[in-house]
Amino acid sequence: MRIVMLGGPGAGKGTQAQRLSQQFQIPWLSTGDILRHEIVRQSQLGQQVQPYLEQGQLVPDELMIAFIRQRLLQPDTAQGWILDGYPRTAFQAEELDFLLDELEQRLSWAVLLEVEESILMQRSLARSRLDDEPTLIERRIQALFEQTLPMLDYYEQRGRLLRINGSLTPDQVEQQLLTRLNASL
Ligand code: AMP
Repeated sequence: MRIVMLGGPGAGKGTQAQRLSQQFQIPWLSTGDILRHEIVRQSQLGQQVQPYLEQGQLVPDELMIAFIRQRLLQPDTAQGWILDGYPRTAFQAEELDFLLDELEQRLSWAVLLEVEESILMQRSLARSRLDDEPTLIERRIQALFEQTLPMLDYYEQRGRLLRINGSLTPDQVEQQLLTRLNASL
C-alpha cells in the first residue's frame, strides 16, 4: 500500500497516517515532523528549512524532492509507505510519480482529509508545535488553498483521489478510510 495523505494543518493527517501505518505495517513518513525534528537537531537540512517553517511557508520543491528521493530509496520503504504532508505542490506530485516509475512502484491512493477552515484553525491552536501559532496557521492554511489544493486535479484526473470527511472523530474518520481502502483492494 502506497498512500499520500493530503489536508491542511489540523486535518488529522498525522493521526490517520499513524493508524494506517499500524494497520498495514508500513512506515509512516511525516515530512512536517521530520523537518521539525531536523530543526531541533540543527542539522544541515534543519538549518536550510527553518526560515520557511518559521514563516508558515512551504519549503522549496527542489529541497523536498531531493529529500523524498533519498528517503524512498531506503530499504524499509520497499513494501509500501504512508506519506503524510508530501506532496504539497503539483510539481512534487509529478516528481513523485517519476520517482515511482523509476522504482517500478505505483501510488495506491491520494487521500484528502476534508475539513472546514474554522476547524483546522481550532484544532491547530489546540496543539503547541513550533509552527502552530495563529498567524503561522493562517499562512499554512493559505498555502493549502494556493499551492496544495490545485494539485488535487492531478490525482483526480488519474482516478487516484479519495475524499474523506475529516471533520468527524478520529475513530469515525479511520472507519471511513478503511472501508474505502478495503473496497478498493
Ligand atoms: P505539516 O506538519 O505537514 O503541516 O508541515 C509543517 C511545515 O513543514 C509546512 O508548513 C512546511 O513549511 C513544511 N513542509 C512539510 N511538508 C512539506 C512539503 N511537502 N513541501 C514543502 N514544505 C513542507
